[in-house]
Amino acid sequence: MPVTGKTRLIGIIGDPIEHTLSPVMHNAAFAHLGLDYIYIPFRVAREDLAVALAGIKALGFTGVNVTIPHKEAVLPLLDELVPEAEVIGAVNTIHNVGGRLYGYNTDGPGFVSSLKEEGGCDPAGKRVTILGTGGAARAVALQLALAGAAHIIILGRRLEKAEAIKDAIKLGVPDCQVTTGLIGKGELAKHVQQAQVLIDTTPVGMYPRVEDEPLVGREMLHRDLVVCDLVYNPVQTLLLQEAEALGCRTLSGLEMLVRQGALAFKIWTGREPPLEIMRKVVREKLAV
Ligand code: NAP
Repeated sequence: MPVTGKTRLIGIIGDPIEHTLSPVMHNAAFAHLGLDYIYIPFRVAREDLAVALAGIKALGFTGVNVTIPHKEAVLPLLDELVPEAEVIGAVNTIHNVGGRLYGYNTDGPGFVSSLKEEGGCDPAGKRVTILGTGGAARAVALQLALAGAAHIIILGRRLEKAEAIKDAIKLGVPDCQVTTGLIGKGELAKHVQQAQVLIDTTPVGMYPRVEDEPLVGREMLHRDLVVCDLVYNPVQTLLLQEAEALGCRTLSGLEMLVRQGALAFKIWTGREPPLEIMRKVVREKLAV
């Protein structure tokens, strides 16, 4: 569809931004539904974030996605936050409604929806072990608590970062039991063996270091475990390959990527996102 004076603008702001798959995913979805929107990536340095947000208003953007390193820094620059974004403490989607900027977080809901729909696993009442304590871990852990997970175990390299996520969960969802620990061999094995769902939110196994040894060894896995890796390149990490070989149900980060995008698409356009198309173009781009 040709760009005209009526074309609505959507963007993604982050730094770096060269490798983002979001433009190809959203532009394919707009084209499929014949919507007059365009999605453009913008590299925005930390010190330019406030100016960039003012630009969203001034240029009349419908919305933007927000990625590393701005997901937390944008919070004070927005006019309103939806409750989920407030609990998670990070925003990955902004909607400009009549000059007011609304902040959403679709990462957590995107993961939980992929776990339920693709992984066939409702986290309500489950014992979940999460590896890593970064931004993705925080969004996933808080959303799992909101979705009714009974016990969340957060394991990281630095205890204080795991404790910070625990504090956020306790504030937002006091009934959820939370345990923290270090990714040391003994503790890791125990918490994997006792878990019903394992989620690796670390970049271990991500392209180009696809041969790196997974944090969770084959001997720690059990067949009843649902094993999730947030890495989407490669789609089948070594961890997922080993889990699948053992008979575990597995879930790749590709599905979270597509679903967080689909939720943002719906916020901006009000239309049902064409999930199949979005999934197909991302898979093509990743050559899987
Ligand atoms: P981040 O904020 O940088 O956090 C990375 C976490 O992994 C930190 O806790 C870090 O520990 C830990 N870590 C890194 N290397 C490790 C190692 N060798 N052993 C143990 N822990 C290690 O990054 P993020 O935004 O959370 O993203 C993490 C991963 O999720 C990336 O691979 C990203 O591509 C993926 N992701 C996927 C989606 C999706 O839609 N599928 C969405 C978001 C993120 P320290 O704090 O000690 O450094």
